[in-house]
Amino acid sequence: MTLSRLLAAILALSLLAAAPLRAATFLRDADMEYALKQLAAPVLTAAGLTPSQVQIVVLDDSSLNAFVTDARHIFLHSGLIMKLDSAASLQSVIAHEAAHIANGHIARRLANMRSARNAAGLGLALAAVAGASGADPNVALGIALGSQSASQRRFFSHTRAEESSADIASVRYMVRAGIDPQGAVDTIKHFTGQLNLNESRLDPYAVTHPLSRDRLRALEALVASAPKAAPNAAAEYWFARAKGKLTAFKRAPGWTLRRAGSDPYKDVALMRQAVAYHRQSDLRRALKSIDAAIAMRPKDPYLLELKGQILLESRQFKAAEQVYSAAANRAPREPLILGGLGRARLATGNAKGALQALEGARGRDFSDPRLLRDLAVAYAKLGNTGMASLATAERYALIGRLTDAELHAGRAADQLPRGSAPWQRAQDVLSAAKQAKRR
Ligand SMILES: [Zn+2]
Repeated sequence: MTLSRLLAAILALSLLAAAPLRAATFLRDADMEYALKQLAAPVLTAAGLTPSQVQIVVLDDSSLNAFVTDARHIFLHSGLIMKLDSAASLQSVIAHEAAHIANGHIARRLANMRSARNAAGLGLALAAVAGASGADPNVALGIALGSQSASQRRFFSHTRAEESSADIASVRYMVRAGIDPQGAVDTIKHFTGQLNLNESRLDPYAVTHPLSRDRLRALEALVASAPKAAPNAAAEYWFARAKGKLTAFKRAPGWTLRRAGSDPYKDVALMRQAVAYHRQSDLRRALKSIDAAIAMRPKDPYLLELKGQILLESRQFKAAEQVYSAAANRAPREPLILGGLGRARLATGNAKGALQALEGARGRDFSDPRLLRDLAVAYAKLGNTGMASLATAERYALIGRLTDAELHAGRAADQLPRGSAPWQRAQDVLSAAKQAKRR
């Protein structure tokens, strides 16, 4: 973790906490993230981007939006994934955002903003972040965009010229990737249904990506002359899985149970039922469903992870530890699964094993507040109060509570060997807290 990455994350999240509207929260799920990666990879490659360098980030927001902030992140609202009906539709959204990245639409605007910081009707905090030295403002701005005020949203809105160039490019990417571009028309048609609505009632997507009948007509003409492609079976499966996992956790269990039976993929149906039964505290049925899903895909780490989660949340700690352990063996580099294993080991009283798993997870993903909380517990149980304070300081910093962060970072710095790497991390938090105070 470099100083600038930590600072960027801290500033981004502290900005959110200071925002007058509700803060955007990330929706983290290893299964869903893996599925989205499978859908995004061919599109990103077709756009000339490197899939491993562009992260698809899901925000827990029921409104419909997708946006980019820099060359490394595409943000999707959970509401958008839940609304769309096919892999090609979702891939068309990703293709359109990839086009905004590839064509430099955001990068140019950020450069303009840095030179005219107080223009554009942005909030003070936002401008301050953009000017923060050492931090990558793009990250901060991007996260801030999720559910911000109308004026900030308008600032990030694309122009009509950018929209049309992104549409043209996105159809080209989809054709290149063998995806039916009709998905793009279906998606835009949904939003053009809102053309006569007052701005306050529009989906945020329609604000950040200005729509018009002309744009729809131009897109329809492009798609009509493009080669058609049959639905891709693998992509449809991963789409069903991402959407199925998301709706199973976000919708009422009864809603899921009424619909899961008609899911074309039996294992996805079973996974959805397992989540719904678990949320109804019906452990017997939840286990029966997830076991049947695992029997269909015995090598799948994410189904095992879900079983581990069900067991852990049902207080079957020993069994949870075993299942998470099997999941981590199949996906040793997945921080969310390692985090689950650490949590299960904490529950069984295996603090040393927990620490090993949790540090493994933190090494791959430092920005997960829940992981940092578990890490602090593990260090405290092992009597390492300096490291426990450091993890707590970093967690507070990430959720924007910089006064609390400063307090714990001070405690950590007092106890950790001066000049050591953890001591330096405590200094990073202290200096971020000081910077925030100066504003
Ligand atoms: Zn756009």
